[in-house]
Amino acid sequence: MVSGNSEAVGAAADGVAALERSGIAVSPGVGIGVAFVVDRQHLHVRKTHIVRADAETEVHRFRAAITKAIEQLEHIKKRIPHGEHRQIIKAQQLMLRDRDLSTGVEKLIREELIGAEWALGRVTEVICETLRKADHEYFRERSSDIAFLTQRVTAALRGEAVGPITPPAGAVVVAHELSPADTAEFARCDVVGIVTETGGQTSHAAIVARSMEIPAVSGIEGVLDVVETGDPIIVDAISGVVVVRPGPSALAQWNETRDRYDQFEDRVQREHGLPAIAQDGTHITLRANVSIDEEIGSARFHGAEGVGLYRTEFLFMNREIPPSEEDHYRYAKDVVRRLKPYPVVFRTFDLGSDKPTKLVDFAAREANPALGLRSLRLALREREMFLAQLRGLLRAAVHGPLKIMLPLISGMSELRQALAAVAEAQEQLEIAGMAYAQDVPVGIMIEMPSAALMADVLAKHVDFMSIGTNDLIQYTLAIDRHNEHVAYLYRPLHPAILRLIKMVTAAGREHGVPVSLCGEMAADPRYTWVLVGLGVRELSMHPSAIPVIKNIIRASGLEEMTELAERVLAVEDVGDAEQAVIATMRARFGEHLQHGGGQRFAVERSEEVP
Ligand code: PEP
Ligand code: MG
Repeated sequence: MVSGNSEAVGAAADGVAALERSGIAVSPGVGIGVAFVVDRQHLHVRKTHIVRADAETEVHRFRAAITKAIEQLEHIKKRIPHGEHRQIIKAQQLMLRDRDLSTGVEKLIREELIGAEWALGRVTEVICETLRKADHEYFRERSSDIAFLTQRVTAALRGEAVGPITPPAGAVVVAHELSPADTAEFARCDVVGIVTETGGQTSHAAIVARSMEIPAVSGIEGVLDVVETGDPIIVDAISGVVVVRPGPSALAQWNETRDRYDQFEDRVQREHGLPAIAQDGTHITLRANVSIDEEIGSARFHGAEGVGLYRTEFLFMNREIPPSEEDHYRYAKDVVRRLKPYPVVFRTFDLGSDKPTKLVDFAAREANPALGLRSLRLALREREMFLAQLRGLLRAAVHGPLKIMLPLISGMSELRQALAAVAEAQEQLEIAGMAYAQDVPVGIMIEMPSAALMADVLAKHVDFMSIGTNDLIQYTLAIDRHNEHVAYLYRPLHPAILRLIKMVTAAGREHGVPVSLCGEMAADPRYTWVLVGLGVRELSMHPSAIPVIKNIIRASGLEEMTELAERVLAVEDVGDAEQAVIATMRARFGEHLQHGGGQRFAVERSEEVP
């Protein structure tokens, strides 16, 4: 159900206290407008039984509801103007067409003689439960996609439709959670902000909000209890703050913040189509990290020179059988065609640990999954799954510049085995008479201290190396990257990390092998000078970070960046390194640090504004 009306933004409502809460800024910017509360009713489902003679009719009723839901999404897809949002809706349609889903529901209807609504709920709850337990936010977020689709099909089974949300111009949409379909439809309305109680960086709603440049803050628990449609509201998605019913001075202050941010964005976006060339002429290639198909549009939009890390794990999600060679081929072919003439670096599957899969039954036996059977180790054990992906990628490379990247290499013996698998995949294609590219560059990720220490040896056998600082920091400093209790130890400027990065770039230079960096460090404007100064010439990051990093590089010279890196390499303590880097970068790029990096993670805080 949706309710709403629109009023002009004004001062605090008479006699009602203003309220400020912090959450996760998922789409940057500042929006000031009038709250529009969206309250999608949760459809309650009761268990119903059917008689055996009606089982097939019930199966048909279920199939008709799936068809109806797919049709509704098709209508939404046609109504939305932005190409990439259509990809998201297409992905939702594909989920509804998933054979595992329909087979599971139909089996329950036939065997347990239960109604379609209940059977659907049971099957999707099992899928959601597995996803919700995942360490990795991306997988947890997919559970809400499944929940939204369940609601849509349930409504269709009841002969109801999930209507569009139509906020008035100047509205800030406030909801418990928003489906991608809801959010994509806002493209037609003049929404100035989004606030949700749940959802994170990788929710589809967040991705859509980012590509539409609507400021959005998630994780504001209980906001629906304190806000009403028509309340003046501020969404500060730079620092992740939401203010309901602001007083006049707060309003004036945030108006100023919004104007400053908008001016900064304008300046940064003006360089959108230009390359990241430093003042002395050094070209730093800026590429995008892509974790789901929908981010490709964002990569192009933000001026990425291709994709430096294409995470392929999502292709393996929610499947009972692994993707076939043909699945990989078709998928990768489509991606390279869309990004041509820029290259796409496909990382072979990095499953296990924080990226769960139902395809291999090992998780329950692992006490330490981050140190267990993950990533390339798993690929070498599940050879058929690995070979199918390699064959698909080698074939897709015929259609555009594609590179293959092997994750979590520990040293020479693993690299040899992985390269042997690539050679075997080529041989299989040869025998099968399939067209494939013979000269596909094969590179490795440097994510373990052992690989960084052996980089001079590994470099002799590969076409490129890419430093994955997310794991490199985890393994070097022995901190679980997803454990909040030790998050304070996760310090990218630790001298040990800087030395390892330097070793890798030096090894790359010695052997003429390009070195990139694709961990989160690449997206943080505080580290740009140090990384370039340490010799990294290619940075790959989430697409929306590109303009700010580009702007810093274009305003800097290699000499000053190298000087900072050398100064920091000489210090003994991480605290001193941080101080030196932050002081230098804040003095030169204060605005970039404020707007480009910012706090992007939830801080549980709730307070009254005096
Ligand atoms: C990394 O480890 O830095 C990396 C980019 O890989 P992922 O975050 O997918 O583990
Ligand atoms: Mg990694």
